[in-house]
Amino acid sequence: MHKNFKGIEKTVYGRGSFDQLGTILDEKRGDNDKFMLFIVDNYFKDKPLSKRIPLKPEDVIMYIDVDPHEPTTDQVDSIRDQVLGSKGLPAGVIGIGGGSIMDIAKAVSLMFTNEGSSTLYQGLNLIKKPGIYHVGVPTISGTGAEVSMTAVLTGPEKKLGLKCEWTVFNQVVLDPELIATVPRNWWFYTGMDTYIHCIESENGILNNAYSHAYAEQALKLCRDIFLGPASGQTPENDDKLMVASLMGGLSLTYSEVGVCHALSYGLSKILGMRHCFANCVAFNHLEDYYPEGVREFREMVRKHNIDLPQGLSKDWSDEQITAMAKVSYNLPHMWNHAVGPDWKDKVTVESIEELFRRL
Ligand code: NAD
Ligand code: ZN
Repeated sequence: MHKNFKGIEKTVYGRGSFDQLGTILDEKRGDNDKFMLFIVDNYFKDKPLSKRIPLKPEDVIMYIDVDPHEPTTDQVDSIRDQVLGSKGLPAGVIGIGGGSIMDIAKAVSLMFTNEGSSTLYQGLNLIKKPGIYHVGVPTISGTGAEVSMTAVLTGPEKKLGLKCEWTVFNQVVLDPELIATVPRNWWFYTGMDTYIHCIESENGILNNAYSHAYAEQALKLCRDIFLGPASGQTPENDDKLMVASLMGGLSLTYSEVGVCHALSYGLSKILGMRHCFANCVAFNHLEDYYPEGVREFREMVRKHNIDLPQGLSKDWSDEQITAMAKVSYNLPHMWNHAVGPDWKDKVTVESIEELFRRL
């Protein structure tokens, strides 16, 4: 079966396009209980951007600190319950922030119309009804969350996305001006998520001309941004990174991620390590699988003088390493893509433990 996916309905791209958000929302304001819910990264609370949010008196705005932990099912349920209890059903939800905020906005949109806890819907196509209108405004680029059909949530039992067609944003606003203030380490780790998406998408059995075209272009952009003579955090590179993130996301959607993401899920689930950082920690030691990609990645780390810890595994217990290896092993679609349909003959929980011991 070939993948058949729904894309973002509308995309606006360009410097200053954030100022079109008000007009975009005006068309939808008459829906449901006629107010908008803005979910915004707390970083922007006292920043000039907060004054430019097209807030009307009836709207609700929530500033969320994403640093203590990645989005949780509890957090999403409580936002939904709080808003429904106090104001009713919004006309739309707008997420302004990185992958964490965009995932919260996507999940909240779905949970407004699907009863019970979001833990019931972690998985593929478990959502019963379309959510409400939702808009994504990325302020840090790389995860591809702006284009993906999943909203990754950590619940009491699993870290797994609410994954279905209705998760995809109705509208995204891509304004490269918004990513100018991202701290350098985050710029790098999150940007590398795109680079790794492309390397993994390209190196596996599900790679095809469609996913390849996106990956090829996104990799070219990543090389300009992180390696070329004009590399670094500049307005020109921010313009490119925002596009690379989207294309990297599309590439993996039509192919698959691989070994690095399998390990990264283990690191996030068992140690709470953040997705993009965990990818960088793991990818650095995957030269057996991605020799060229890892060589180039290390060049980028050196060039930008990025702090990437090594020797972490000496502080992990055998139990933790086994637990992480089990999480990774239980992602068969990634191993199948990266290693082939006979991956179980080549990859075992023990061999994955060895990979973790390299980190
Ligand atoms: P993030 O949203 O976690 O933010 C990282 C840091 O950057 C935070 O401190 C945030 O406050 C700060 N920040 C964001 N924008 C800023 C700006 N313009 N200026 C200054 N600081 C800014 O970052 P992320 O890496 O984009 O997202 C990671 C999350 O995305 C994880 O929860 C992961 O599970 C999820 N994810 C989702 C998908 C998907 O397809 N849905 C894919 C990959 C990762
Ligand atoms: Zn990723």
